[in-house]
Amino acid sequence: MKAFPQSRREFIRTAALAGASVPFIGALTSGARAADAGRKLGFAICGLGNLSTHQIAPALQTTKNCRLVGIITGTPAKAAAWKQQYGIPDNCIYNYDTMDKLADNPDIDVVYVVTPNALHAEYTIKAAKAGKHVLTEKPMEASPEKCQEMIDACKAANRMLAVGYRSRFDPHNQECIRLAREKVFGDLRVVEAGFEIHLDQPPSAWRFHKALAGGGALMDVGIYALQATRYITGEEPILVSGTETKTDAVKFAEVDETIVWHMKFPSGVVAYCSTSYNAAVCGRYKGVADRGWFELNPGFYYTGNRGVRSDGQEIRFPQVDQFAAEMDDFADCIMNNKPSRVPGEEGLRDLKIITAIYESIRTGQTVKLG
Ligand code: NAD
Repeated sequence: MKAFPQSRREFIRTAALAGASVPFIGALTSGARAADAGRKLGFAICGLGNLSTHQIAPALQTTKNCRLVGIITGTPAKAAAWKQQYGIPDNCIYNYDTMDKLADNPDIDVVYVVTPNALHAEYTIKAAKAGKHVLTEKPMEASPEKCQEMIDACKAANRMLAVGYRSRFDPHNQECIRLAREKVFGDLRVVEAGFEIHLDQPPSAWRFHKALAGGGALMDVGIYALQATRYITGEEPILVSGTETKTDAVKFAEVDETIVWHMKFPSGVVAYCSTSYNAAVCGRYKGVADRGWFELNPGFYYTGNRGVRSDGQEIRFPQVDQFAAEMDDFADCIMNNKPSRVPGEEGLRDLKIITAIYESIRTGQTVKLG
């Protein structure tokens, strides 16, 4: 007797009738439809700014499981330019007010939200309600409450939600996870991590405004350092404390400029981290264990990441396009009904910690996390 008497198509039909009792059946049906038609999953990019233009759209051309099908933009001139460059058909061009019409477009499976941070929830929820899976850029949103709303909306619509944590798809970062988790240098004791940049944008840019950014350097780039401490330890911090300094209180009136923060993890590992919007570009981390150490410097770049170990070995791999890898992985998770390594819950965890760091800065107290 066959272990699975039903064909895949019959299973999908039966399970769909069973409704909510089957986890991710929505993901399965959408993926199966794509597989049946022998096509890649269709992506629509929401927000056509720098990242979409220079990283995500080019990366989509190199993916195995995805293709750029649609765009969502508030700027007609961008719609015309993208239509010409990528051959986007008119019926796959939307603006932020017509996103509900995505529901009528079977060619679009996934919406990739690449707008200012505090708009991620609004567009994620619209996309989920239109029956689309959602990949959203980091930080997931501006508050844990908004992250939870996104998770709830995608669950209610039976769609998958993941966060664009591209470092998780970089082989250098994956090697550091291996070195730490396999205890190649013994038990991890201390993690140092930081990501500083010089934010060279005009004061009108959304990154300087709390209403759209949610926060400053910590939300934007410090989050990479925070992520690294969590993915190499595999633990969640139980104590955080932070200190902020502003060398330019006018430019950074609404958002944080420079922050250092400490964290303690349940196993006793401690981390000290830093971030800034007003320093030279420097994104790196080091894991110090009881018998040796490893570090990536740089560790959070699109290309050029590399590192060394205390035994003299280099950490060097062929470069991969992290955006292409992240999108292919998301499509694979949808098509094969697998959990993402970067689900919405992962973005929520970071936002809870970031919120605790801001609380510590505000109160001058160490904050306990559950
Ligand atoms: P950007 O300013 O270049 O683009 C933002 C886009 O959102 C623009 O097309 C803009 O027109 C649109 N938009 C829609 N509503 C808007 C509004 N009310 N105000 C302003 N713009 C509005 O920004 P970006 O650098 O492309 O960043 C977009 C997102 O991607 C952010 O969440 C950011 O954190 C993230 N990001 C991630 C990485 C990464 O490496 N994963 C790198 C850069 C940015």
